[in-house]
Amino acid sequence: MLSQIEDMLKELETYRLEDYINLFLETPLHDLLLLADLITRKLCGKYVTFTVNLAVNYTNICTLRCPICAFSRSRDDSDAYLLSPESVAKIVEEAYRSYGILEVHLNGGLNPDLGPEYFEKMFRLIKQRAPKVKIKGLTCCEIAYYSRLWKMSIRETVCRLRDAGLDMLSGGCLEMYNEDVRKVITPGKISGEDWFNVARICYENQVPVNATMLFGHIEKPHHVVEHLLKVRDFQEKTGNIVAFIPLKFSPTNTQLHRSGIVKNECSTEYALRVIALSRIVLRDSVRIVSAYWVSLGKNVAQIAICSGANDLVGTMINEKVFMNTGKRETTTAEELAALIREAGKQPALRDSFGCIVRAM
Ligand code: SF4
Repeated sequence: MLSQIEDMLKELETYRLEDYINLFLETPLHDLLLLADLITRKLCGKYVTFTVNLAVNYTNICTLRCPICAFSRSRDDSDAYLLSPESVAKIVEEAYRSYGILEVHLNGGLNPDLGPEYFEKMFRLIKQRAPKVKIKGLTCCEIAYYSRLWKMSIRETVCRLRDAGLDMLSGGCLEMYNEDVRKVITPGKISGEDWFNVARICYENQVPVNATMLFGHIEKPHHVVEHLLKVRDFQEKTGNIVAFIPLKFSPTNTQLHRSGIVKNECSTEYALRVIALSRIVLRDSVRIVSAYWVSLGKNVAQIAICSGANDLVGTMINEKVFMNTGKRETTTAEELAALIREAGKQPALRDSFGCIVRAM
């Protein structure tokens, strides 16, 4: 099997958008997942990785209120909040002491009350109290918003946050590249092209990024393929994407669901096809393709790591974005390692930049 994959990889080099759509639509499920798994094994090493990380949602106030979002609130909502830099640093320090976290994933919204000093103070305090913890936070959308709010160029914004301690961008807000889709699911967000422009400026200033893809709403297969080809093209030029994270849309408590545009979650078959196709299109241009267990559920994530994904993101202690859509599972490093072993794969702990810390 592994020897036949050489021929298939050569054939894939000739594929264009239409070929991938056909592959996605017409290949029997088992064959598509097997192909993705063989490519992963051939090109991406033996480990399935994750990190030990903490999610901190420092504010839920956001001016955009996207139709996909169950997390954000308006400023005057009774449950709107903003954590102080001191309290964020305290939460990170406690998680560092209790769980030995390697990373904090900072998640917020477009909060008009935040100046650069807020983030600088937060990052500096985190680095003082938990110096080994990497700070992953802000999306390209947030960088573009705050650069406008703070009247700085994107480059100045990125460099200022980097110099205060921001290690990498989280990869959110890419959603689906296609503008027609974006107009429905995230009408106020920067365009897909602008996302890549901010990501390019991050690359030029030594700030790595992740890239996401939100699927399972109104998109069609050609939107998925278009998105993947854009990510691959960017990666071939920069190599700056650490992980590609396909996120299954969870409609509960979102405007898309309330308005009836999206009635249900997509099927497991569709989710697995999307993740397999992600690997088949990206191959090893982005070595890490993640199965985000929070959005997929642990059982589907376990199948996904045998179907093109080679990463489970992280323990995501304290995650709240998907929790607001009713996803309430939690996990531990030991459980993720066991899930990987049960799937017949070798678990390994990684850092934020994809480097193996230790096999488990
Ligand atoms: S998805 Fe992000 S930008 Fe959109 S409303 Fe939610 S927090 Fe704000």
